[in-house]
Amino acid sequence: MSKPTRAANTAPGDRTKTALGWTHGARFLTTASRLDQLPGSELPEIAFVGRSNAGKSTAINQLAQQKRLAFASRTPGRTQHINLFELGPKDAADTLFADLPGYGYAAVERSAKLRWQQVMSDYLQLRRPLHGVVLMVDSRLGFTDLDRRLLALIEPRVANGEVRLLVLLTKADKLNRNEGQKSLMAAQAVLAEMSTENSDVGITLFSALNKQGLGDVAETLYGWTHPEPAELQASADEGADEGADVDTEAPGASEASPAAPTAES
Ligand code: GDP
Repeated sequence: MSKPTRAANTAPGDRTKTALGWTHGARFLTTASRLDQLPGSELPEIAFVGRSNAGKSTAINQLAQQKRLAFASRTPGRTQHINLFELGPKDAADTLFADLPGYGYAAVERSAKLRWQQVMSDYLQLRRPLHGVVLMVDSRLGFTDLDRRLLALIEPRVANGEVRLLVLLTKADKLNRNEGQKSLMAAQAVLAEMSTENSDVGITLFSALNKQGLGDVAETLYGWTHPEPAELQASADEGADEGADVDTEAPGASEASPAAPTAES
């Protein structure tokens, strides 16, 4: 689990409450089937991705404390859309959650898969406000080939610190303690390959059923878009040193980039 950021004078319990209060305020904003339909806002986005059935909708709904928020993505016609949710004060939203369709669902027509593969890979590699990715992986399966393809897609932006990564090993309630530790270690070994001194990569066992990891996840996501003053100063100094704005286009978005996962082949 990546270390949650804490405001200097905020007790841990208060920070969790603040973070959960923030995720509970998520509300549906819009849906898009193409990148050019996404809002032009510069609000930081946190994308939720994972294989179909990994537990993504349940996790988002648990974070938002709303039974059906993420199930909008399930309604016919919306299965291949990016659904955006807004967080923060109603009149001053500060973050967007982007729910990307689950991959690996066999019953999708090939042409639709290919089209969606392109949208997803463009979103993850090029979308400028993308601030962090939450990857849901079934704790009993670990990273599948499709998950590894997704990791390869975002690796350049994760490695240079532009995009943060949090992996949720979902349905952890189905594992005993020993199995949970094994699942965690196996996934950690994969992620270690993509960690650099600039990257912010975290992992946690998660259960929407018994709320294991819920507070930590909310805190981590809140910390991503609400850095404490010391961190802001550090990134400002970094920007000054390099003489560059942080608002750069994603590196690694080249023709040679790996394709987004779509379906089991
Ligand atoms: P998605 O396709 O990734 O959005 O997956 P869903 O959120 O729809 O979950 C897929 C299935 O896993 C559903 O039957 C859920 O009830 C179940 N599920 C999701 N989260 C949990 C969990 O934390 N524990 C258990 N035991 N089942 C879960």
